[in-house]
Amino acid sequence: MGTILDEILTSLPEKADITISAFEGANIVLYTKNIEFFLDSSRVIRTLVSNFKKRIEIRLDPSLLMGEDDSKEMIKKVLPKEVGETNIIFDPQRSRVIIEAEKPGIAIGKQGEVLKEIKKQTHWIPIIKRIPAIKSKLIENIRQVLYENNDDRRKFLDKVGKRIYGGWKRNRKSEWIRVSFLGAAREVGRSCLLLQTSESRIMLDCGLNTAATDENAFPILDAPEFNINDLDAVIISHSHLDHVGLLPYLFKYGYTGPVYMTAPTRDISALLCLDFVSIAQKENKKELYGSKEVKEMVKNTICLGYEEVTDITPDVRLTLYNAGHTLGSSLVHLNIGNGQHNLLYTGDMNYENSNLLAAAVTKFPRLETAIMEGTYGGKTDILPTREECEKFLIKTIKETITRGGKVLMPVLGVGRSQEILLILERNMRNGEIPQVPIFIHGSVWDVVAIHTTYPDFFNSAIKKEIFHKDHNPFLSDIFKRIAGQKEMKQVTEETGPCIIMATSGMMVGGPSVEYFKQLAEDKRHSLVLTCYQGEGSLGRRLESGEKDINLAESGSKPNIIKVKMDVHSIHGFTGHSDRRQAINFMKRLYPKPKRVMIVHGEKSKCIDLASSIHQLLKIETSAPKILDCVRLK
Ligand code: ZN
Repeated sequence: MGTILDEILTSLPEKADITISAFEGANIVLYTKNIEFFLDSSRVIRTLVSNFKKRIEIRLDPSLLMGEDDSKEMIKKVLPKEVGETNIIFDPQRSRVIIEAEKPGIAIGKQGEVLKEIKKQTHWIPIIKRIPAIKSKLIENIRQVLYENNDDRRKFLDKVGKRIYGGWKRNRKSEWIRVSFLGAAREVGRSCLLLQTSESRIMLDCGLNTAATDENAFPILDAPEFNINDLDAVIISHSHLDHVGLLPYLFKYGYTGPVYMTAPTRDISALLCLDFVSIAQKENKKELYGSKEVKEMVKNTICLGYEEVTDITPDVRLTLYNAGHTLGSSLVHLNIGNGQHNLLYTGDMNYENSNLLAAAVTKFPRLETAIMEGTYGGKTDILPTREECEKFLIKTIKETITRGGKVLMPVLGVGRSQEILLILERNMRNGEIPQVPIFIHGSVWDVVAIHTTYPDFFNSAIKKEIFHKDHNPFLSDIFKRIAGQKEMKQVTEETGPCIIMATSGMMVGGPSVEYFKQLAEDKRHSLVLTCYQGEGSLGRRLESGEKDINLAESGSKPNIIKVKMDVHSIHGFTGHSDRRQAINFMKRLYPKPKRVMIVHGEKSKCIDLASSIHQLLKIETSAPKILDCVRLK
């Protein structure tokens, strides 16, 4: 029995003249020396794909490509003028040319006609990427890292493919399947699961508990079943640090394999991990990892779109689905042993349409076991509706502006902040709130820029506004970026009524606390808290009505702030399902799973949700403990 490449090669016609055959992850790429075959291979490819059920691509042997300068000229000639700004980058080892464009839809053309023309004229395979509408240094850096290391990337992807197709045979079964809970079991934070089969070792999420300062901050990586050298793949559900914050650390300790996630998750994760590193540096804490490891993480990431099926090991096939929680957040579906067992891991999810994202997907081709989050799974976790919250927010802003005040909103970098920006933009456009500037501080702005790179991940209403009405709410000129101290001072001292968004959401350090110091003692201003306020945080103290706040470091002279500004908190803008929505999600889940496990919630909430689902749906449910291991087959 030969390899999958041998089998494919022997089934090709002789004229195919294949010089190189290689893997790009689970995809198979063949390079031909026959230009006619290259330009007219679609029928052959269709047959191969239906026979092997793999993605197969034909490219021209690099030696026969049109020169880079001539190709660049030709591409510029072929691209319509309306495409806007473009960057053209060649990847000669893979016969590909990357075209970054302001309007990627136009660069592709109707039914891909522009792409076809570029391929026909230059013989390079064009890949189209979007230039973000808001310039982002981070995205430029990430792309730079990938382009600079094209040759390493080619070798890496080939290595990943060799692992997936090693000892290839059709319809591979798994002798056994088990899952270990290394974190976020009966707790929130440090999400990490280890899936083992007779063939594979796969990690689902690799998070940190940022609120913990002891060893409970990390998943239990010294569990006997975990060995970093045996790890085949990591899958990341979304970009919050409690799901991805420890991933760069794996690279520090020798992991060299692939990580699967969506492209927005990769970019936002890189940003938040870098932010995490720089905060640790500022506070003189011991660094877990540095920017070098974040770079390794980016280089080893294979990005997937929603509902794109891909093999990741010999017996596991992965598909990501929309989870409705943050931009690019995913439900992780694993088909194990060629359909023997199908596992769904929800990560964090929201079963409700928000202003930005569609509700989590509930339909899957097959499903036996579901591992679901239970953050708001407790009996009392029924949150006010989005409409109620929006009304209250608008009222508060109007009142504050009318009395000449400023509204300070401490926010997390990603998720709610973008959701609230959309609400503010819409209400200002409709005249519901007066036109005042909205100042967006630091990393929140960077995350907004990443949002303008991936509009395809938004819900259909926003996509329609952007693509059909040419109105992108994130580009509104009411949003102003604030970067440094000087601009910050202008906002607090010279500007009139306005809205300010800044991190951290719980007011544990960061610019939100700086703004607070300037605004707190003036009763015209308002503070609006929108995220969960942890025990002991400044946000929690203000929420519970404290009026004299000492901001001095311990040991130094007291620095008492007399809080005169209004303080409000609104909790219904969360990116998680509340109890009602979590149960509805379970009811709608199709097909109905045979077993449900609840994770990512306080102990009582996990147990509560698990028992309610058992009573309602008559299926086996549980709330696993940390280090539990469950055999699925
Ligand atoms: Zn999350």
